[in-house]
Amino acid sequence: HPSRPSFIAGNWKMNPATLEEAVTLAQQVRDGVRLDSPARVAICPPSIYLERLDRVLENSPIGLGAQNLYPEPKGAYTGEVSAAMLNAIGCTHVILGHSERRTLLGETDAFINRKLHAALANQALLPIVCVGETLDQRDAGQTLEVVKGQLEGSLAGLEADQAPQVTLAYEPVWAIGTGRTATPEQAQEVHAMIRDWLAQRFGAAIAARIVIQYGGSVKPDNARDLLAQPDIDGALVGGASLVAEDFLKIVEAAE
Ligand code: PEP
Repeated sequence: HPSRPSFIAGNWKMNPATLEEAVTLAQQVRDGVRLDSPARVAICPPSIYLERLDRVLENSPIGLGAQNLYPEPKGAYTGEVSAAMLNAIGCTHVILGHSERRTLLGETDAFINRKLHAALANQALLPIVCVGETLDQRDAGQTLEVVKGQLEGSLAGLEADQAPQVTLAYEPVWAIGTGRTATPEQAQEVHAMIRDWLAQRFGAAIAARIVIQYGGSVKPDNARDLLAQPDIDGALVGGASLVAEDFLKIVEAAE
């Protein structure tokens, strides 16, 4: 789509196990992405590796994302990290509301919304907001309703002029880490609904500029068909982002 760049982000989750491996993986990604690639690319490593990997990515076009933040600027929040702290060590992006955090750590849309505003208040930290239904919800025919509820809650108070800074990631929970990808048609149906919701909320011109990634078992062999859908503008890649060769093939599929 001409008004939206493709955007491929790697969600490394709590991987790899050592800093040495993380440096090697970041170097391989850096060296493998063409400098003139029309696709935007970011890697999102564990926060403890961010500062070191910012040095690896210096002078490269690859973005550096955190996987979470805490919505207050400082204070008695043991174990947490603020938007400004992430920004200060070179982060350009932050993943918010990943389903693993929603499920394992009880994150709500209201909490994710506070994080969104904290990221945006901090000029240069671009949020990737994740939404998606569970298998039970899909089987019960609730997919669109669930995703709309997540959008309403997590994007509350977002102004139209800020909206294009936000990337959305549609990640059906049943497709994450399961090897079971949504078909391009299943994913496109939800992406189109998200775009409609955005158009009603912010107007069609703004909605047309918002990047919507698909996530859930994206691999080199399914990326091209998913990315060919009109409202699928990129991918949030988990498992396959840990193998540089695979991640780079997915980037190529987006070019
Ligand atoms: C993710 O966790 O964001 C994800 C999409 O994981 P995977 O690609 O491994 O399914």
